[in-house]
Amino acid sequence: MFCIKCTYEYKEGIKVCPDCGANLETKLTEAPNLGVNFDSVVLADVENDIEGEILSGMLKENGVECFIRINYLPFTRLAIGNVFSNGAKYGTILVNKEKIAQAKNILKDFKKSNKK
Ligand SMILES: [Zn+2]
Repeated sequence: MFCIKCTYEYKEGIKVCPDCGANLETKLTEAPNLGVNFDSVVLADVENDIEGEILSGMLKENGVECFIRINYLPFTRLAIGNVFSNGAKYGTILVNKEKIAQAKNILKDFKKSNKK
């Protein structure tokens, strides 16, 4: 299992991430961005977790493997708010390299639907 916040791999039964301190009890049990079995390339940055979920959902519906890499400053472990003030986005969507063309089309649709 992997910490959804920092992707630290931990053994089942651990309640708090030893690396970043995140509560692991309510988190996803599948790897958010490790353990992927495809070559990944960056598709786009997302502003927040909701945007990330919607976009990755659209990609998966269309058969494009993807995952979200949560951005943070690895050494200082600044809170998300501090990361934002440094101009960094919440996270980055990475997709299967072989499906990047398809993924870009889905991204276009996603941006269109976002502008409503
Ligand atoms: Zn963690």
